[in-house]
Formats: sequence, C-alpha cells, structure tokens
Amino acid sequence: MADTDNSQLVDLLIHARWMIPVVPDGQVLENCSLVVHQGRIQAIVPWDDAHRLYRAEESYELNEHILIPGLVNAHNHAAMALMRGYADDYPLQTWLQEHIWPAEGEWVSPEFVREGTRLSMAEMIRSGTTCFSDMYFFPDEVAREAVEAGMRCQITFPVFDFPSAWGRDADDYIHKGLALHDDYRSHPLVEVVFGPHAPYTVSDEPLKQIATVAAQLESPVQIHLHETAREVEDAVAANGGERPIQRLHRLGLLGPQTQCVHMTQLTDQDIELVAQTGAHVVHCPESNLKLASGFCPVQKLLDAGVNVALGTDGAASNNDQDLLGEMRTAALLAKGVSGDAGAVDAHTALRMATLNGARALGLEAEIGSLEVGKAADITAIAVDNLESLPLYNPVSLLTYGNVSRQVSDVWVNGHLLLRGGQLQTLDEAEIRSNAQSWQAKLKK
Ligand SMILES: [Zn+2]
Repeated sequence: MADTDNSQLVDLLIHARWMIPVVPDGQVLENCSLVVHQGRIQAIVPWDDAHRLYRAEESYELNEHILIPGLVNAHNHAAMALMRGYADDYPLQTWLQEHIWPAEGEWVSPEFVREGTRLSMAEMIRSGTTCFSDMYFFPDEVAREAVEAGMRCQITFPVFDFPSAWGRDADDYIHKGLALHDDYRSHPLVEVVFGPHAPYTVSDEPLKQIATVAAQLESPVQIHLHETAREVEDAVAANGGERPIQRLHRLGLLGPQTQCVHMTQLTDQDIELVAQTGAHVVHCPESNLKLASGFCPVQKLLDAGVNVALGTDGAASNNDQDLLGEMRTAALLAKGVSGDAGAVDAHTALRMATLNGARALGLEAEIGSLEVGKAADITAIAVDNLESLPLYNPVSLLTYGNVSRQVSDVWVNGHLLLRGGQLQTLDEAEIRSNAQSWQAKLKK
C-alpha cells in the first residue's frame, strides 16, 4: 500500500471485487474501494486511486466479494424468533387466536423480548440486514437491545384497543410509546414511531389521535393492512361497504408517512389511493404465502409509482429472517402473480430490500444506497464458492442464488457487526442457550 505524504488518513477502507451501490440504478462497479470516515461514506474510487490517495486505520481486501448497502427489513416482530416453528400450517386468524396470542399471553415478558430480539438480530446480521423495523410488546427493551448490538432500527410501538403485557388500552399504549419516542429523539440508531396493529384491532378514536400526533411529530406510522381477504370482507360487512384502506384514509391516516404492511387484497381503486396519498407498501411475501393470506400485486404497485419495501414479518410466520431469501421469493412470486417473467427483476428486488426500505422508513437521506455522505451501513457477501460460479451477473446471483449463508462482513455507521461470518457485538453461545431454555418452557 502506498503511504505517501499526500495520502489522507481515514477510518476504514474496503476494497471490493464488486460493488452494487443501488444508486445509480443498475450500476455494478468492479475493483473499487469504499472510503469511510467518521461513520460515513467519504468516497468510492478505483482500487489504484484508493491505495494512492488514502491510508486507513483499518482496511479490508474483499477480493471475492460483492458489497451492497446494508439490507433494510421493513417489517418484523423480532422477539417472535422464539416462536419459530411453534405453530405452522394454520391460516392467520387460527394461527393468531388459537396459538400465538395464547402463547404470548402466557410467556411474553421483558426477558422474553430481550432474548428473542437478540436471537432475531443475530440471524438478521448474519444474513446481511443492518436496519430493521420492529413492532412488538416492550419496545423499550427492543430499542435498548438494538443499540447494544449496534443495529439501526425503527421501533413501531404497538397500539391495540385491548390489554397486553405492555399496556392496558389504546391511550396507555400511545402514552408509553410517546414517552419512548422522547427518550430516543435524535438518537443515531433508533427511531420510535407509531405502530397501530391493524384496522381490526384499533378503533376510530385512537387511529384519529395517532393521525394527528404523528403529523405533528412528522413521525411514520406502520400498520398491518389488507393482510387477508377475511379482514377486508369482515370490515366491509361491518362498516357499510367501507374497505379498511378507505377507513384509514377517512381518518387521515394515509399519507407519505404511512407504511402499509402486507396489502394482499387490493383493487385497482385501492392501488390508486395508495399512489395518490404517497403511502408506502411493505411486502412480506413468505409470511403471506405461509399463512395463505394472498398475493400483493407488487408489479402493479410499482407501475403505479408506489414505493414497495420488503419485510420478513416475524419468524413465527416465515420462518426465517433472511432478507436475501425474501428478495428471491418476491422476485419469483411477482412473476407468477403477474404472468410476466420481467416483473420484479433482480435489480428491483435489491432496491426493494435497500433503498425502498430506507424510503419507507423515512431514512433515505441516511441509508439504502452506497453514496457519498450516507452512513456506512454495508454488507459484504463472499462469492468464491462453487455454487456462485460462473458469475456473469452479481445482482442475479444475489437475487436468484442462495447466498445468505455467504454474508461475511457487516458494518453499521462504519462499526463492524460481523467479521468473517462471526458476530462481533452479540454472544452467539448465550443466544443459543437462551433459545433452548425458551424452547423447553414453550413446548406444549
Ligand atoms: Zn406483522
């Protein structure tokens, strides 16, 4: 490495064989280096220039790797990782009412949430995710764990009409959530936003209140919406023909700050409404498939100009937290649903898992692409194994290959969370032993 008098000292240099910055769209860089200083991307330059212009405190030669922006999992219930495989092969309502809610009623506690969130974060980091959105009880515990692990997150504090281990009624959830919002105001990693669970679990008054306060605070709102046909049919029958999405619109809850999760039951009119209001869609294809909830018309939404992000949903309905795998499912499913093999191409799938996720969470100025000035949230994937060869097109490999086990290194704000496949901020042995203790307790 050249060490001339003129070279600039920076914190971190990552030399990568391939780099997919996501912006500009479709670009694949070869033999380039990412220059990181004080947690931000300072430059992207060819290897030769990097060696001539910079010296670094730390430097990584990733000669058989693809570098991408850290993945953004825009919908999760992290602690549900402890219920992975607990109840399979049921439709949503049976799954929730007869299996998940009773188990949560018995077992969910701050300790359950801490240990479940750690298990989920370990899996997310190991598969390349640097930022996740979470909706669960004891969101204060989730926020603390995320900070400790060095992950970026959007905490959507839950709101229901009915009591849970974390709150008594809608007012109580909102009160506690707003206190948490204050605690993390201007935090570099955590943003606390509204998470009214769904139209069928939150009544008009609290939804109106959330719309008003969220607008004042310029805060995002995330809500499960049009997840199943049954949800829409029941609501239409109960509300004189009004669809849940129309109800949210009437209550002032649909706008550019709104993240609508699932959206498997959409008419052309619904799609128009989403596009007009600027609301975002978070597509969770594997959860929708597993619960037989329906198909989100992703390509139609994209064609209408709607921003579509990707989420895994909780591990109890997926059953993994692997966003690269979710990209593949999203790309394949979109082709099947639309009858068009060109629907959700490989670059689009990657953009959904990065920049679109950042945009949905209101974080696009910070993350979602490898661009100068953005935070150094970066994922490296090793592609030197037989299954990755021949490598004509790195983006094709990321989307259609099966590379999540090949994620080697992960940084958030320039801090290393994974090095050579080894977790740097989480204790794998402890997570393993905690998961086994919960398994023994929850076993029926
Ligand atoms: Zn969900």
